[in-house]
Amino acid sequence: MRYISTRHGSQGSPEPLGFEDVMLAGLARDGGLYLPEHWPHFSKAEIAALRGQPYVEVAYRVMRPFVGDAFDEPTFRRLITDAYASFDTPEVAPLKALGESGLHLLELFHGPTLAFKDVALQLLGRMLDHTLTDKRQHATIVGATSGDTGSAAIEAVRDRKTIDIFMLHPRGRVSEVQRRQMTTVLAPNVHNIAIDGTFDDCQDLAKACFNDLAFRDRHALTAVNSINFARVMAQIVYYFWAALKLGAPNRPVAFTVPTGNFGNVYASYAAQRMGLPISHFVVATNSNDILARFFESGAMTAADVVPTYSPSMDIQISSNFERLLFDLYGRDGKALAEAVAAFRSTGSLLVGANALGGVRALFDAGRLDDAGTLAAIADCRKRFGETLDPHSAVGYAVAQHHRRDAGVPMVVLATAHPAKFPDAVQKATGERPALPARLADLLDRTERLDGLRNDVSALELLIDERMAVARPARAARR
Ligand SMILES: *Cc1c(COP(=O)(O)O)cnc(C)c1O
Repeated sequence: MRYISTRHGSQGSPEPLGFEDVMLAGLARDGGLYLPEHWPHFSKAEIAALRGQPYVEVAYRVMRPFVGDAFDEPTFRRLITDAYASFDTPEVAPLKALGESGLHLLELFHGPTLAFKDVALQLLGRMLDHTLTDKRQHATIVGATSGDTGSAAIEAVRDRKTIDIFMLHPRGRVSEVQRRQMTTVLAPNVHNIAIDGTFDDCQDLAKACFNDLAFRDRHALTAVNSINFARVMAQIVYYFWAALKLGAPNRPVAFTVPTGNFGNVYASYAAQRMGLPISHFVVATNSNDILARFFESGAMTAADVVPTYSPSMDIQISSNFERLLFDLYGRDGKALAEAVAAFRSTGSLLVGANALGGVRALFDAGRLDDAGTLAAIADCRKRFGETLDPHSAVGYAVAQHHRRDAGVPMVVLATAHPAKFPDAVQKATGERPALPARLADLLDRTERLDGLRNDVSALELLIDERMAVARPARAARR
């Protein structure tokens, strides 16, 4: 399997790469995102053969075509098995029917940090460590988080000698539980940085480090944001898993995905391209609804980010959306690079009527504000006895407006555990959800973090300094 950049053919584009290089690079050198040259295809019989298999086996077979010869079979199986042993259930992603409503919850929050990002990052951390150890190399992760990516990435690489991680979060804009899940990890290779700005500012800073090629090479920067294709790959698995439970390949399924950076819902689109019968996807957003507006009008126009109860979706510019745009631009990397550059300078991007028609046949979109989110949490609790976190609640409410066919099961992705967002859940239900036992003392643990202004030179200086200290120490440990 070879991978190309969404901006291939534009200035500075890399040659097609194999899986290991794509995983290590994260973002392509031309600023684009990597995608496989061709999607692997699963026939009906191949999908049927996955039925009844445990999660790790489905994961192995669905991901095998993507990794090529990066790992031999026993190694890849072991990495997958170890990654999902960190979950609190062997099901990894339990599927729950909501009464007879035809709605189902796919619970993706059973990993160590209680959000769906563990599903991909527990595996990515292990794959990176394996590859770097093999190559006797060290990599530096620079990432931005609106909350959940940070803790999941930190938890995935903590204490690994092959990796240092610098995680940027917008100061005061992540929940206390989210912040503490990052800042209480005191491993020497973990560096938390609170930026005075929004999540988009943090993301821009991380991107600026990558676009500074000298800096990027000096530290062997790698990204574990959802732009890393390995994360998309690992997320494709649970769409197969859920659809199989509901009758795939003989029966179609619909998915509603609480969406921020478009990584999760893009994985469902990928699953469909691979042959999984998905009738349609519903993109659920909070008041930061640039994507919902896009699917309605074909025009993408940025607005200011407003804080909501679902902070992991408080995003205006969804980086993974470029992967879908790539198809909408007929896989013409040069044309896409120009459109993205124009969007950067004018703040708007318009897709032609044909492309929009095609994409609307597949995608619905809806939004829910904070008041609606609280009402949805209360409603689900009352009707079905399930307590949702605010992100999942957005999905739950939006899903009900986008059932195209009552006979097609609708799976809502439950992306976080309610205890990660206790304030909103308490407001909605009157009860404060308890953290699972393994995190019960989180609020008493010691925190460590740096504060920084929104300035790329200051950030690069901090990383240079930290790594200058870390490098000799690491050499001494060897
Ligand atoms: C990251 C996250 C999302 C958004 O997922 P994307 O892949 O960025 O669209 C939704 N809900 C929760 C709880 C998250 O952590």
